[in-house]
Amino acid sequence: MKQLPNKIDFLQMEEKWERLWEEHGTYRYDWGDEVRPRYSIDTPPPYPSGDFHMGNVLNWTYFDMRARYKRMRGFNVHFPQGWDCHGMPTEVAVEKNKKIRRSDVPPDVFRKMCEEWVEQYIAKMKTAVVRLGTSIDWSLEYRTMDPDYIRKVQLSFLILYGKGLIYKGEHPINYCPRCETAIADAEVERLRRTGKIYSLAFGVPGGELVIATTRPEYIPACVAIGVNPTDERHSHLIGKQATTPIFGRKIPIIAKDDVDTTFGTGAMMICTYGDKADVIDVARFKLPVVNLLDKRGRLNENAGKYAGMTIPEGRKAVVEDLRAAGLLREEKPLEQEVGTCWRCDTPIEVVNAKQWFMRTTAFSDQIIEQAKKITWYPDFMRYRLIDWTKSLDWDWVLSRQRVFATPVPAWYCKQCGEIHLAEPEELPVDTKVQQPRGKCAKCGSTEFTPDYDVMDTWFDSSLTCAIHAGWPDRPDWHKLFPASVHPSGQDIIRTWAYYLMVRHLALFGEPAYESVLINGMVLGGDGRAMHKRLGNFVASPEVFGKHGADAARQWAAAGGSTGTDIPFRWEDVEYGRRFMTKLWNACRFSAMRLEDHDPSQHAEPMLLDRWILSKLEKTVKASTDAMENCEWMNATEAARNFTWHVFCDDYLEAAKYRLYGEGEAKLAAQQTLRYTIRRMLQMLAPVTPHITEEIYSTMYATDPKDSIHLSKWPDYNAALVDEEAERAGDLITGIMGEVRKQKNKLGVPLNKPVKRLVIYADEKALADARLGDRDVKETLKVEEIAYESGSGEAEVEGHAGVSLTLTLLPPS
Ligand SMILES: [Zn+2]
Ligand SMILES: [Zn+2]
Repeated sequence: MKQLPNKIDFLQMEEKWERLWEEHGTYRYDWGDEVRPRYSIDTPPPYPSGDFHMGNVLNWTYFDMRARYKRMRGFNVHFPQGWDCHGMPTEVAVEKNKKIRRSDVPPDVFRKMCEEWVEQYIAKMKTAVVRLGTSIDWSLEYRTMDPDYIRKVQLSFLILYGKGLIYKGEHPINYCPRCETAIADAEVERLRRTGKIYSLAFGVPGGELVIATTRPEYIPACVAIGVNPTDERHSHLIGKQATTPIFGRKIPIIAKDDVDTTFGTGAMMICTYGDKADVIDVARFKLPVVNLLDKRGRLNENAGKYAGMTIPEGRKAVVEDLRAAGLLREEKPLEQEVGTCWRCDTPIEVVNAKQWFMRTTAFSDQIIEQAKKITWYPDFMRYRLIDWTKSLDWDWVLSRQRVFATPVPAWYCKQCGEIHLAEPEELPVDTKVQQPRGKCAKCGSTEFTPDYDVMDTWFDSSLTCAIHAGWPDRPDWHKLFPASVHPSGQDIIRTWAYYLMVRHLALFGEPAYESVLINGMVLGGDGRAMHKRLGNFVASPEVFGKHGADAARQWAAAGGSTGTDIPFRWEDVEYGRRFMTKLWNACRFSAMRLEDHDPSQHAEPMLLDRWILSKLEKTVKASTDAMENCEWMNATEAARNFTWHVFCDDYLEAAKYRLYGEGEAKLAAQQTLRYTIRRMLQMLAPVTPHITEEIYSTMYATDPKDSIHLSKWPDYNAALVDEEAERAGDLITGIMGEVRKQKNKLGVPLNKPVKRLVIYADEKALADARLGDRDVKETLKVEEIAYESGSGEAEVEGHAGVSLTLTLLPPS
């Protein structure tokens, strides 16, 4: 057996393996393999922000542990990595860096600048993903900004349009006035804040009606007043008209049975649109729509003298004029929840606009059915998707008014206005710089204007399950579809898990994935979610550079149960590092003691051999069960506790005298060591892939390309479970521990001989203890052991009724 060096630089060793795995193609997916079952991981392509933070370390450790475990279970694992490149943050960064506005240069030039910008961030993140030791197959790498990826996204657009599931229509949408674009429901965050509520006087026949509102700037878009018909204060006004303050417009007063009579004065403004509830009322009462905002999110001509102002400016001006006119009756603070843009925290507006939509709400029942059917790790996370789906009442608005995104593959006929979609053969296409090949189907004209819209980036990233599998180019793409697992964060179930499911159901009539693996958030030292702007941020290069990837992975795997939020603790990483040193030293010692071992010889295992083999099998079972269910913490703790405490602290110490000895007893210890270490390393391999590979390749591999990660996961061997050996072995190792503790307490060196040890216990325990007579004597240098009933000076921890008394040799 080859020997492990005394000193090792863990960081260098880790980087060596990352290089060798890629050189050897250790993790390549085998497209031609018809024997092994397939396992496909729908790795979410991250947005390349340039940072690989501890939250990413947590995510990728989860994906990778699943991949490694399944590979060792004999699966042909498909583990790709993509980059979700499009999006506004890149546009903003490029504008800032180049000191231009995106409209200053032609769109294709601006797009090129964005692509170059993104590449540098991808390079940084890829370095970190590799450095974490993930078992990704890099031959499968892709970018959503690649022409080939855009082709597939546009093709899916054409197919959905052909099925009537994508349409262009005028509907209310969420709009961010700062980002100047439509946004989807999933991108709206709920923010609590203190706003203001204003009581305004509307004119009504015979007097005035005071109405409370948080949006006075919407008076010009107020299309009705709603009152509850059961409200005696106002019911006589139903059917009459009110006059809006300042603007003097006549609007109807209508009966609306869901008006909260306890809020404000019990009368409410219905505007187009103050919020989402107004949208429902406008449809229900067939009210007209007054658009109040222009494309830039400013008040338009319908706001009269306030036209051109931003919303906050308009509100301020309207309130001042109301006050001056004596129409503002009250103004007070109000705790409220507002919808804000996920990107910039600006309160969103609801506006009517012509946009592209996908008919998603039609699939809600199917999504809920699938959410119930598929496997979730952890199980309760399924309700996040079910509840979100139930809450949706609008279709998905797909179009965005940006540049760096997948173009909508459509033009409009200059003659008749008809929509003209690209043909599949024309894809990928950027309609802003390309003209279609064909003619208008309606009037035959060959002149077109482009559709300037681009698609929501979720429209790129919600197609990965099919694209990873090889759709639409590989005829056998169904072999990898649906994805075996979609890994996701609890905060993006409503986007990623939802959009994937709805998209694949709509395109193929099939669910996107068979299971979902959820990770929680990483919390900083202050207990809040780790975030750059909160100053509690730790970057992964700092952690890798200090303690290495295997230590960081142990923190991720064992930091908390799967799906829960996990605090980042340096102590956990340091513990991981100490564990590696312990493992390294134990294996180095074992390799030396195995140097003359002949594996073709067999010896009968002795008591402590049978004891550890039995414990090993139980650990294999616990670890396998936990790995199956993605319970990383339990799997990691089972393997680490066995390694550190059972193997290193107890077994190795007790077997040393035999390993330094001769004959059958030595051979029995050697064969136990060889067998145990191999299985122990295999159980640890998904958590700490580098160090286990280094040890395995030295002690076990026969070929340089041989890898522990391609070896077979240990099968639970029930024949080795031996309850009697465990009972006796636990007692004997317990006695050894107590003797060590006593020596420590007395300040006596551990290697100093003991003259006499008396063990007190009942008959049954004494019989067990006698089985370890030689082990205790040799291991702890005890000259004589007496077995008595009664009680001694020190209880043996964990073994009620067993105690002992030590007599040390007189000082020499
Ligand atoms: Zn915004
Ligand atoms: Zn036409």
